[in-house]
Amino acid sequence: MTTTPQNDTGTRDLAAAFADYAPSVEGRDIVTIRPRYGLLSGGEERDARDGAVFATIDPSTGDHIAEVAEGSAQDVDDAVAAARAAYESTWRDMPGRTRAKYLFRLARLLQDRSREFAVLETIDGGKPIRESRDVDVPLAAAHLFHHAGWADKLEYAVPGMTGRPLGVVGQITPWNFPLLMVAWKIAPALACGNTVVLKPAETTPLTALLLGELAREAGFPPGVLNVVTGAGATGAALAGHPGVDKVAFTGSTEVGKAIRRATAERGTRLTLELGGKGAHVVFDDAALDQAVEGVVDGIFFNQGHVCCAGSRLLVQEGIADELLGRLRRRIELLRVGDPLDKNTDVGAINSHAQLERIRGFVEDAREDGARIHQTSRPLPERGFYFPPTIVEGLGGSEAICREEVFGPVLAVQTFRTEAEAVARANATRYGLSAGVWTEKGSRILWVSQRLRAGVVWANSFNRFDPASPFGGMRESGFGREGGRQGLQEYLRLEPVGA
Ligand code: NAP
Ligand code: MG
Repeated sequence: MTTTPQNDTGTRDLAAAFADYAPSVEGRDIVTIRPRYGLLSGGEERDARDGAVFATIDPSTGDHIAEVAEGSAQDVDDAVAAARAAYESTWRDMPGRTRAKYLFRLARLLQDRSREFAVLETIDGGKPIRESRDVDVPLAAAHLFHHAGWADKLEYAVPGMTGRPLGVVGQITPWNFPLLMVAWKIAPALACGNTVVLKPAETTPLTALLLGELAREAGFPPGVLNVVTGAGATGAALAGHPGVDKVAFTGSTEVGKAIRRATAERGTRLTLELGGKGAHVVFDDAALDQAVEGVVDGIFFNQGHVCCAGSRLLVQEGIADELLGRLRRRIELLRVGDPLDKNTDVGAINSHAQLERIRGFVEDAREDGARIHQTSRPLPERGFYFPPTIVEGLGGSEAICREEVFGPVLAVQTFRTEAEAVARANATRYGLSAGVWTEKGSRILWVSQRLRAGVVWANSFNRFDPASPFGGMRESGFGREGGRQGLQEYLRLEPVGA
């Protein structure tokens, strides 16, 4: 999952690197986008009860794409009732192998229409088509296939325990991986026999709706998968709904805390996948070309809108100048621009509000005395874009070194010893991801055992697999998605024979 096909650390001159550049733009006409979308509830597409709508836009231009139903508390209520009815009348008691057939069918339909999904994801959210085509859509299908395979084998998921479904699950997803996060959520929930009410992010609702349509096409019983579009209030209505047995949320730490309070009131089960401030720790014996590519991928993949982004670089003093020189040259080679162009490395920032937030962090860092290095290549004039940025010369206590920017901004610090590297990496309220770069196996073990992060990659970054559990600790949340651990979050477990 590298953001560029070449392993070029900037030794070629720029003119040569761009000489072969010819835009190759994926056609918008691959998808039919309707002017208006309803929400999906009880197997039907319908308007919000009060007729409210919101607009979704294309962040690469700022142009209006479509109007989408804005679900109210009443619409959430309807969807929860439909999910409950489907749970009790069909889904809960259906043999696992039959549930699997529906999920396999959905996965295959998604594969069949993968090009359409990739283009729609890119238009609605701004991510490069190469990423939606090669990462988001195939991984979403992989999650559906993987969990479809578990549906009739749940008795083996947790040795010595029997699992039963929980009931109606409320799932709330963010805008950075709109389709993939939906797949991560619905695949295990449905495989385990739960029914779902899903609330996708306001700025990127279209691929969730299209997947909901595919579920209808796949013949899912009405009410098994409901998609209630809307903004924060719709999500809050879902998270606090008394008819929901479990809430699964992926999003910001702030909203996650509010949801934790709301679910605590009712004793609703909860998993939270929240923000992060992941650190790359690069030792002086690391393979530098590989580390450069890993660091670039870790922060510029998906414009840095990645919860587990490596948004901090901790580099050992002896190689700091060399590594930073290579990184500065390397970011000059990143193509920032039209997300539908297959050569684009860094696409559009998802929303104007997010662009302003990123700008604010970088301006504050400048005032804090940081040295700011940005690519010199021009940005598109329309749409929301931010240049790949490296921030150096800060001590570590500044906001940009501690808070999640969620943009293409890398904050750099140096360290001398392993212990100092670990202390710096752990100096954050988050605990989602980290990367260790060294040729020494013993050092990988020593460091990774001390890093407080749910996922630690060694000499790689941003590797995902449906069989591998993913999740955080501390203010990055709790619970896991993927693997057997992810299934347990959707089952009520009892000892065999109890
Ligand atoms: P967000 O503002 O927290 O929103 C996430 C979802 O919650 C959206 O659907 C949002 O709706 C909804 N929401 C907003 N306010 C709500 C409320 N009071 N009650 C219930 N739901 C509410 O986060 P985001 O800006 O979309 O996403 C970025 C964040 O997600 C980052 O912090 C990132 O690190 C995190 N993330 C974490 C993971 C992980 O696995 N740990 C993965 C991806 C992203 P609207 O869109 O309508 O506001
Ligand atoms: Mg949009």
